[in-house]
Amino acid sequence: METVILAVVIAVVVLAVLGGLVVGSRRKKPLPPPPPAAPDITAPPAEPHVGDEAETPRDEPRRTIEEVDLPDGGPAGVAVEEPPADLLAEAPEIEIPEPTAGRLVRLRARLSRSQNALGKGLLTLLSREHLDDDTWEEIEDTLLTADVGVLPTQELVDRLRERVKVLGTRTPEELRALLREELLKLVGTDVDRTVKTEPEDRKPGIVMVVGVNGTGKTTTTGKLARVLVADGRTVVLGAADTFRAAAADQLQTWGERVGAHTVRGPEAGDPASVAFDAVKEGKEMGVDVVLIDTAGRLHTKTGLMDELGKVKRVVEKHAPLDEVLLVLDATTGQNGLVQARVFAEVVDITGIVLTKLDGTAKGGIVVAVQRELGVPVKLVGLGEGADDLAPFEPEAFVDALIGE
Ligand code: GDP
Repeated sequence: METVILAVVIAVVVLAVLGGLVVGSRRKKPLPPPPPAAPDITAPPAEPHVGDEAETPRDEPRRTIEEVDLPDGGPAGVAVEEPPADLLAEAPEIEIPEPTAGRLVRLRARLSRSQNALGKGLLTLLSREHLDDDTWEEIEDTLLTADVGVLPTQELVDRLRERVKVLGTRTPEELRALLREELLKLVGTDVDRTVKTEPEDRKPGIVMVVGVNGTGKTTTTGKLARVLVADGRTVVLGAADTFRAAAADQLQTWGERVGAHTVRGPEAGDPASVAFDAVKEGKEMGVDVVLIDTAGRLHTKTGLMDELGKVKRVVEKHAPLDEVLLVLDATTGQNGLVQARVFAEVVDITGIVLTKLDGTAKGGIVVAVQRELGVPVKLVGLGEGADDLAPFEPEAFVDALIGE
């Protein structure tokens, strides 16, 4: 009998223990295991922590609000700790782009194709012992192949011929100095290449970006936002390229990375109304610059003129445009020049952005396009990276071409 009672007691105890485990594990189930010691990407900072990322150690495990263990019917009076503010917010982390000064110097290696074709090619030819007519013709061909353009090539060759004659004997250093000087003259050192974004009497500055689709227009608008943010300005983006489905998303992604708001409209909507709203919101938000990306459909010149003309007119109900940047793909050579001409007839271009200079041996296009439009190259694209857009500096450019 005693054994029976003992067996019953043991069975009851075992059942009770097992039951407790089940209940316990049921209670615990909804609670995820403590997070592993990995960066927490579910809890972005509350405010854009510009310049103080160090405050948020990336390797410190954190838990989201749902994961925080709350005392299960714990004793009254036990304060539930307020989750830190940075667990509640949804703002994405803001990047701070690298400063823009000297970017071209840093990116000089990207010009290596142009460097070999143009700078080094010319130096090698000029170093020949006898500079006969054939050699001068080769020099001319080198310049033309690099897309310098017929007239500038002729000017450069004439000046070089004259100066080499005067020089008599030529050391490599003398030749390099001479070529540097003449190329600089061709590119132009006395032009104002700043992107105009700070009108004296009002805010925001308004910049319109135009160009044929595929030239890198939207990417360039996004990169330009980074250039401005890197230089301490605040920016609103206007996604007025409503014809290319992905363009607005693309631009918004660029903007979010640097904390710039993007104004967009319905797909295939009216570009002019998006541009108008972008400036309106930029004014209301009190930002420094509004950048407007436009559609670049070269269907017909009249169509383009109507479209861009309308965007311009509507924006100018707020204030005049401070800058109209034409984006040109440097790899398209003569075709790019034809595009440039069409756009210049449609809107007053105030600056040129030459993209994809990293993918071409035709760095001479800088000279040709400035001549063609009488407008300076202000920025150059030297790669697909976020900070591969550089303010154009003639000295750094020519130095990169001929090697220091
Ligand atoms: P859009 O149609 O003119 O707006 O062209 P996108 O901005 O979409 O750019 C077209 C392609 O060109 C993208 O793959 C860009 O990454 C690329 N791109 C833009 N600028 C440069 C540049 O300076 N160098 C290189 N290598 N690619 C570029």
